[in-house]
Amino acid sequence: SREWHLTARPQGWPVPGDFALAEAETPEPGPGQVLVRNLYLSVDPYMRGRMNDAKSYAAPYALGEPMLGAAVGRVVASAADGIAVGDHLLHGLGWREYALVDAAHTVPVDPEAAPLPAYLGVLGMTGLTAYAGVLRVARLAEGETVFVSGAAGAVGSQAGQIARLKGASRVIGSAGSDEKVALLLDEYGFDAAFNYKKAPVAEQLRAAAPDGIDVYFDNVGGDHLEAAIGALRVHGRAALCGAIAQYNATEPQPGPRNLALLIGKRASLNGFLVGDHQDLRPEFVREVGGWLRDGSLRYQDTVVTGIEHTLDAFLGLLRGDNTGKMIVALPE
Ligand code: NDP
Repeated sequence: SREWHLTARPQGWPVPGDFALAEAETPEPGPGQVLVRNLYLSVDPYMRGRMNDAKSYAAPYALGEPMLGAAVGRVVASAADGIAVGDHLLHGLGWREYALVDAAHTVPVDPEAAPLPAYLGVLGMTGLTAYAGVLRVARLAEGETVFVSGAAGAVGSQAGQIARLKGASRVIGSAGSDEKVALLLDEYGFDAAFNYKKAPVAEQLRAAAPDGIDVYFDNVGGDHLEAAIGALRVHGRAALCGAIAQYNATEPQPGPRNLALLIGKRASLNGFLVGDHQDLRPEFVREVGGWLRDGSLRYQDTVVTGIEHTLDAFLGLLRGDNTGKMIVALPE
């Protein structure tokens, strides 16, 4: 079987020479373990941080070892009580075809209840991030105006729709292509959207929200964050989810130049990690599951097929090749 290793720490944008697709033995499960044939792998922006040798909330990937990431697969051998061959599991040993996992580190998933990739996206980590960020971190109230960056991505497309479904009066999104902007307006019910590559963010945000914004859901950082601070109204809140504009930077990036505006606006910027909001999961699955069933929340995944294309999928994610969740399918 095959697995992806990090072989060198990327400097700036990762290049194929920093990685290797290696051959590995397919092991037998020991007591309490299961062998899973991975069917869908998640590639996520946070993985770029784990490629650096820097102290962070997630440990760095070890050089010459398989990389880690969320995956969903089918059990092909089990030495664990309560898990049978044929069961489907969510676990953390992605970037490989076969995973030997401790049963305690797996979550059962039901392919009848939802398509398997949904457990990595709309009903999984990115979905919960959007839900927790909008409702708990930004404390969205009815009638508020919300701005979401990275709005055509997995987290952003869901954050914008959750805001609308929870009573925001106006939802604005930014994304990196005209096709994505059209999707936000035509499919996801955003009230306004703009292509951040076409003109300065501050200018386009001012045109989309002339009376300002109450909530900013930040996936991007940089000039998006500065523009949003400028647009925040009194008692506005920004949920700082990600800063993808700087993940490949080799130098510390300048902060927003207008932070002092927060004082008069009595506004707040709150960073958060989805891992701290796992208690919301039952409520999240119930509510988002309902919206998916009745069609009020929509999503699309971008699926790349083949273990050999996992790195392309990851690099494509950083470039914006994806709309919605970037998934790698490993058909049997
Ligand atoms: P996305 O599906 O949003 O994919 C990444 C997107 O980022 C790309 O499609 C691209 O879209 C956009 N992008 C890339 N470079 C830039 C740039 N320079 N400026 C603006 N946009 C850019 O990924 P996710 O939904 O998985 O993640 C979104 C964000 O949320 C990331 O910052 C991620 O790190 C963060 N995150 C945080 C979590 C937490 O617990 N705090 C948990 C999960 C995710 P485009 O074409 O529009 O440029």
